[in-house]
Amino acid sequence: MQHLISLEDMDRDRLLTLLDRAQQFAELDARAAQPDSLAGVHVVNLFFEPSTRTRLSFEIAAHRLGADVVNFDAERSSTLKGETLADTFRTVEAMGAQLFIVRHGDSGACELLSELAGSGTHIVNAGEGRNAHPTQGLLDMLTIRQFSALPFEQLSVAIIGDIRHSRVARSDLHALRALGCRDIRVCAPDALLPDAGELHGYRVIDVTDDALRNADVVMTLRLQRERMEDGLVDSLEGYYAGYGIDQRRLSLAKPDAFVMHPGPMNRGVEIESAVADGPRSAILRQVANGVAVRMAVMEALVEHCN
Ligand code: ASP
Repeated sequence: MQHLISLEDMDRDRLLTLLDRAQQFAELDARAAQPDSLAGVHVVNLFFEPSTRTRLSFEIAAHRLGADVVNFDAERSSTLKGETLADTFRTVEAMGAQLFIVRHGDSGACELLSELAGSGTHIVNAGEGRNAHPTQGLLDMLTIRQFSALPFEQLSVAIIGDIRHSRVARSDLHALRALGCRDIRVCAPDALLPDAGELHGYRVIDVTDDALRNADVVMTLRLQRERMEDGLVDSLEGYYAGYGIDQRRLSLAKPDAFVMHPGPMNRGVEIESAVADGPRSAILRQVANGVAVRMAVMEALVEHCN
C-alpha cells in the first residue's frame, strides 16, 4: 500500500490489520513513549477545503510518530495566482516532502496526485469531493468495534441524512460491506439519496422511525450545503422534523444502540443536543479514534517503502 485513496478495494484482512494497529495506538497513552515510525519523514497537510478534526488529528498523529509536519494554507498560497494542483504538488514534493495528506473538493484529485507521485511519496485522501474519506471510514469502523458487543456480520446499521453528498457515507458503506455487515439501512429525503446504482445491496427506508427500529448503530450525517444545489432541502426545521435524531427516535433503536456523527454537527438540524452530548453518543470517541487510525495508516504507508 503506497497510497490510501479509497476503501473501495480494501479487503477485510487489510481493514482488520489497520484496525488492530489503530486499536493499539488508541490504548497507548499519548504521554508514553511512542514508536518513531515516521522519524525523518516530512508530512504535508495539503488542504484545499476547510477542516478541523481531520487536519488536526493527522497533525497530532504525525507528531506522535516523530514526523515533521508542515501545513499548507491554500488561502495564502499560489493557488490564488492560478497554480494548478499538480504543480503545487510537484513543487512541495521537490522540497522533499514524502507524505501528503490531501483534502480537495474535486473527486479524482487524490488519484491524479498518486499518478504523479514518485516511488517514495505517499498520498492519503483526507476527504475528496463526495467521493471518499477513507480514514473517516476506518475510524468509524474502529468506533463501532469498540462500542458494539456484536460482530459486524450481526449488526444492523442505520445511516440517516445527506448520503448523496457524503464522502463519509461512501467510505463507511464500503468498509461495512467488506467487514461483512449485511443489514445496512439508508434513509434520507429522495433528493439526498445517491443515484439508484449506488444503492445496490442496501435497504432504502423512507421513514426515519422505521430505519431506526432495532438498529444497533445510528449514523447521522451533516447536511452538506456546500456541495448541494439550491432548493434540495426546503427548510431546516422540516428536515429536523423528518430526519433529525432526537431522544424519542433513538429510543426506537436497540437499548444499547449508539449514535455517530462525523462532525461538524449542526445541532437542531441533524441531531438533538441531548443525543449528541448524551450517554449514547460515540461522537467524541470517533474524534479520539481519528488520531489512532491516522497513526496506523501513516505508519503502514511508510513501512511499505522500507
Ligand atoms: N468532516 C466530514 C467531511 O469532511 C464530514 C462533513 O464535513 O460533514 O466529509
